[in-house]
Amino acid sequence: MNLSRRNFLKLSGVTSLGVILGDQLFDLTPVMAQVKSFKIKTAKATPTICPYCSCGCGLLAYVENGNLINMEGDPDNPVNQGSLCSKGASIYQLYVSDTRLTKPLYRAPGATEWEEKDWDWMLDKIVEKAKETRDKNFTVKQTIDDPKTGEKIELTVNRTDAIASLGGAGLDNEECYILHKLMRSLGVVYLEHQARI
Ligand code: SF4
Repeated sequence: MNLSRRNFLKLSGVTSLGVILGDQLFDLTPVMAQVKSFKIKTAKATPTICPYCSCGCGLLAYVENGNLINMEGDPDNPVNQGSLCSKGASIYQLYVSDTRLTKPLYRAPGATEWEEKDWDWMLDKIVEKAKETRDKNFTVKQTIDDPKTGEKIELTVNRTDAIASLGGAGLDNEECYILHKLMRSLGVVYLEHQARI
């Protein structure tokens, strides 16, 4: 359709008038409310946190019959008060994407292909590797110069320098507390975190 600038302005004016008149002649409020609530009416809403960035916006995940059917901003969350950026607003696509990974993948040392593994196998492997690395690189005693006298002194340190921990922005206070306790109990001293929540 070839639309001149003048015709475009006329058409916009007529459309706006139609919208205004439509709003005044018919009360669409109950219809709009019904449309808005219909999809999630019987679904269970569970608060969660957006995993994308350090803002940590709150989301509501609506689940019905074991299926996630909708995600939206949580109006009760003090961080975002219901609003989401465009990335957070499209988060439902994480769930429905054809390219979403649904099983852990493992690539053995030297292998070129990934293998599908179940979670039990993968968690056992992670624990096995963490323990192996820690045990091979565990320091019980360390000799340092006494800052006052300059003499050599031996300290009990019980640490490993071979493992580091990086916390994600989606972790809340309690999760960080547990992660910190776990890392300290392993002797990890390099802890970093992108804490915002
Ligand atoms: S909704 Fe946007 S701003 Fe908020 S945490 Fe997610 S990515 Fe960050």
